[in-house]
Amino acid sequence: MALIVQKFGGSSVANAERIQRVSGIIADTYKAGNDVVVVLSAQGDTTDDLIEKAGEINPAPSKREMDMLLSTGEQISIALCAMCLEKMGMPVISLLGWQIGMSTNSDYGNARIKAVTGDRIKEELDKKRIVLVAGFQGINKYGDITTLGRGGSDTTAVAIAVSLHADLCQIYTDVDGVYTADPRKVPTAKKLDEITYDEMLELASLGAQVLHNRSVEMAKRYGMELEVLSSFERKPGTKVKEVTKVEQTKISGIAKDSDVARIALVGLKDEPGIAFKVFRVLAQAKINVDIILQSIGREGAQDISFTVPRHCAEEAVTVLKEHEQAIGFQLMDVDTSIAKVSIVGAGMMSSAGIAALMFEALYDAKVNIGMISTSEIKVSVLVAEDEADRAVKAIHKKFFED
Ligand code: ASP
Ligand code: MG
Repeated sequence: MALIVQKFGGSSVANAERIQRVSGIIADTYKAGNDVVVVLSAQGDTTDDLIEKAGEINPAPSKREMDMLLSTGEQISIALCAMCLEKMGMPVISLLGWQIGMSTNSDYGNARIKAVTGDRIKEELDKKRIVLVAGFQGINKYGDITTLGRGGSDTTAVAIAVSLHADLCQIYTDVDGVYTADPRKVPTAKKLDEITYDEMLELASLGAQVLHNRSVEMAKRYGMELEVLSSFERKPGTKVKEVTKVEQTKISGIAKDSDVARIALVGLKDEPGIAFKVFRVLAQAKINVDIILQSIGREGAQDISFTVPRHCAEEAVTVLKEHEQAIGFQLMDVDTSIAKVSIVGAGMMSSAGIAALMFEALYDAKVNIGMISTSEIKVSVLVAEDEADRAVKAIHKKFFED
């Protein structure tokens, strides 16, 4: 007998038929003799619909009331699923975040989990009930409802699994695992049996949206192994863990991120403090900078190029213009039609020539590289946005199909 935490995403519980299917998986897990705790997301597009509804009433509602509204989506899911399991004759109870002691800080809309007491869950498991928990929500020290940020139900599931010392934490979704590239774009993409936490974090932040980043961070911190699998087909998924089997493959995956813009500041003074001035202005505006490139100085002048999320580009330009005098640049150039293509693999640390292979693939495909950045387990390049899919395919072919 094991304690299993299962999480089902919004698309897995989108309608009655899907709730029945999910209930079937839950019931089977229970009937196999396991203690089962299930975390559910809001049905389908419910959360988006709720945001839209709020906008019709008040374009700038308080964050507290927004969380009061958004948390309702998950409540609907757990109640409906509980009713479905009841009908199947299963012992079941649904619980909200506050009922299981999911305490968070007061950062409404993006709250951090502080602790999960989980006493109520344990009581219910002792009574041999299946426990359904509303994902994405918690309660702060004032007794008010908070939400954990979009996609936060994954994090709810991991937090519960960690606090209950679960044997397994399964994240059911509408894809059957983590792939070497986006299977909708690269039909030859292969499903991975295993991936490390660090690789998963890199892929997630690079735009492969399978798991909520914070859930992977938490799983890594507490060594909670995750399994990503499909709620539509019953077959093994991808395990996310600390160390994976020694694999032949040099990289684990390729990701594309289109939420990128490149800003170049031309004709800056080549003297101490310039980079500080540029990036302080951006930091004060809470704009995340990713790849940074500084040219070598020539006749006392230099250029600095960097990337920011595309949805922040306009704001970045505004704040830089405001400080044009203080920073002292001659020209600002912005490119919003680029994308970042990255390869990720823990194996990179121990094998040479990985970056060269990626560049060769891009050369073969006649894709020009804008900027390059590397970390221990990642190589990223900037390319023209309309060439990015072709770049991903070419790199995939080089690493996985040749
Ligand atoms: N329902 C929330 C959202 O759509 C949380 C989640 O799905 O994990 O962001
Ligand atoms: Mg969702």
